[in-house]
Amino acid sequence: MRGHDRHLAGRDMAAGQGILLQAAAGKEEFMKTLVIKESDPDFAQEMEQAAQVIKDGGLVAFPTETVYGLGGNALDAEASAKIYAAKGRPSDNPLIVHICDPEDLDKVAVADDPRVRKLADAFWPGPLTMILNKKEIVPKETTGGLDTVAVRCPNHPLALELIRRSTGFIAAPSANTSGRPSPTKAEHVEEDLSGKIDCIIDGGEVGIGLESTILDMSEEIPTILRPGYITPQMLEKVIGKVRMDPALMTAGKGQRPKAPGMKYRHYAPKAQMYLVKGDKDAVVRKIQALCQKEKEAGRKVGILCSDETKGCYPYGTVVALGSRDHEEEIARNLFDALRSFDHMDTDVIYSEWFEAPGIGIAVMNRMMKAAGHQVIAAE
Ligand code: AMP
Ligand code: MG
Repeated sequence: MRGHDRHLAGRDMAAGQGILLQAAAGKEEFMKTLVIKESDPDFAQEMEQAAQVIKDGGLVAFPTETVYGLGGNALDAEASAKIYAAKGRPSDNPLIVHICDPEDLDKVAVADDPRVRKLADAFWPGPLTMILNKKEIVPKETTGGLDTVAVRCPNHPLALELIRRSTGFIAAPSANTSGRPSPTKAEHVEEDLSGKIDCIIDGGEVGIGLESTILDMSEEIPTILRPGYITPQMLEKVIGKVRMDPALMTAGKGQRPKAPGMKYRHYAPKAQMYLVKGDKDAVVRKIQALCQKEKEAGRKVGILCSDETKGCYPYGTVVALGSRDHEEEIARNLFDALRSFDHMDTDVIYSEWFEAPGIGIAVMNRMMKAAGHQVIAAE
């Protein structure tokens, strides 16, 4: 058990409401969050209950192959409002609608562009979200007031089962408190949302660890609004030309990104974070010098680096993301590493630069946001 009851008896999960309790101190209301996992002897029955929670308008966090999602019935405006409230998410930041069968896309979105079908055939189930004009059935609460809707079919058996057994359309942003690093383990979800949602399905650590690629198909030239595991090259092989949202390149310098969520401070650890850019040896020397100064000032330093350089830093808490030869490992470990600094009460974090052509674009996008675009040049 971690912090609260992980295995309440099924009947204790009041349908869609959780169990509302009055906190002893103050008047704050919270609910008891049920945590279920595949190894539970009655897991099949627990999944049925989790699906019932969604049907009844409640919230269930679940694993996907990218990060954990916080799910509610996408066709229920009140359920979407609950998602925003639990995360503390600004209500103009739309939610992604998750489906379990690519054939269901037509029910929520206008999908007559043949390129949409090609992309669905190539990448679904998988880490690609498409933005399309929405159909009437999707409430504006789910789309943050927009006439477009984001849709994805995730590649995770528990996610697909939950969607299938409940309402077929689950709105799910990442299951973190707004602004914090996205959750890649059930423990991260518990840390942020325990007491605020009905249920967490613990499916262990996720496979990819970065959120889906978001592709805006409502534009003439399909536009990547958020980089992810599916790279521009992979998309272009299937549908020809795609472009990056220009705001991704000038991020932090005033241009407005088309995905509303991309404008918010995001993925941020509590400490100030700086990215140190330059060639490998210069970066190591610069971080060593910065750490020496922090030591003299009596401040706690965190260092984010690769396996190859983790032995280079004598002062500070070193967290290695993985080998530079394995971009996917670095992507998978990033959010957990950022969260780990919060537990160490680090004052400042210096990170090596990780740019690489494939998924590295997505890694750097998240790192730049976590660092609030603070970059130090290493010469
Ligand atoms: P999350 O699910 O927490 O990864 O956040 C979903 C992301 O998708 C946010 O950055 C949203 O702004 C973006 N998004 C969702 N729906 C739309 C839409 N209709 N148009 C543009 N961006 C969207
Ligand atoms: Mg998110």
